[in-house]
Amino acid sequence: MNHNEITTFLNDNNVDAAWITTPLNIFYLTGYLSEPHERLFSLLITKDGEETLFCPKMEVEEAKNAGFKGNIVGYLDTESAFDLIEQRDYATFAIEAEHLSVKRLREVEQAFNVQQIEDIDQVLKDVRNVKTDEEIELLHEAAKYADLAIQAGVEKLAEGVTEIEVLNHIETTMKQHGISKMSFDTMVLFGDHAAAPHGTPGDRQLKNNEFVLFDLGVIYKGYCSDITRTVAFGTPTDKAKEIYNIVLEANKQAISIIKPGAKISECDKVARDIISNAGFGEYFPHRLGHGLGLSVHEFPDISSANKDEFKPGMVLTVEPGIYVPGVAGVRIEDDIVVTEDGHRILTGYQK
Ligand code: MN
Ligand code: MN
Repeated sequence: MNHNEITTFLNDNNVDAAWITTPLNIFYLTGYLSEPHERLFSLLITKDGEETLFCPKMEVEEAKNAGFKGNIVGYLDTESAFDLIEQRDYATFAIEAEHLSVKRLREVEQAFNVQQIEDIDQVLKDVRNVKTDEEIELLHEAAKYADLAIQAGVEKLAEGVTEIEVLNHIETTMKQHGISKMSFDTMVLFGDHAAAPHGTPGDRQLKNNEFVLFDLGVIYKGYCSDITRTVAFGTPTDKAKEIYNIVLEANKQAISIIKPGAKISECDKVARDIISNAGFGEYFPHRLGHGLGLSVHEFPDISSANKDEFKPGMVLTVEPGIYVPGVAGVRIEDDIVVTEDGHRILTGYQK
């Protein structure tokens, strides 16, 4: 993998080395995915481009098998990784300030005789923000499985079935297709239960003539999908249908403006204006969407606060919603890739 962006940052800013600690960032840079729990797991990159992975000894072979070509320092639970390397000083040292704990920071400051700390978070966000064609292909595959998962959920709907039963059917079906992990806890919410945007599925039973909200995603070869569909079981009330049509319009119009050079904040505004003008502004309490990649929520933030423009290779969600307590909760979410001249929608399940 190409780490020029990181060594360029180090050299341009006179930083001696970077200490990468977010497991997904290490996966992105090394091809090796690990969940270290409380153990030390870090990638050291010097300004000369030398790379050293610090990981538990039992994981050394896996890291090599994943294709990592740099140095590996494997340590036992009973020893300190820093005792296994020759003493080196990195006076100016870049860390992931949003991830590294204060305790770990003190350890590295001492181990490498650090005098000054810089943040490397934004560099990593910028690198991961623009996806390669290969990454987009994997995100598209993940989105196709998400479509299939919605399909499985819809097939299970019947009067009296519980949210948990539908959820179980969806996840079992995904496992039968070889998907080992969902990208977050699958959401299946019936009727007014969906009026809480992040509700928890339970033993609520499905009644005739209400909406069902599915929000789910899968992880395919490390890459996440995230889709929401709100489907009618029978014939919902006119009020509920009105809400659905407003959200659908907001979803479609917001997606329609996505292209390189368009403002990200404008995308949020298009959807928010449609919902506000219809009188439901106060019932749309969240940003329009978020970036999607190795993490289900990543850079960029699709909100009024983001002053950036869309760039080719960005992958993001558009997910307007209206949640009226006691009436209905509707959200419609798609995964979108920004192309050279516009956009492509990766999720395909009918709306
Ligand atoms: Mn979602
Ligand atoms: Mn989402």
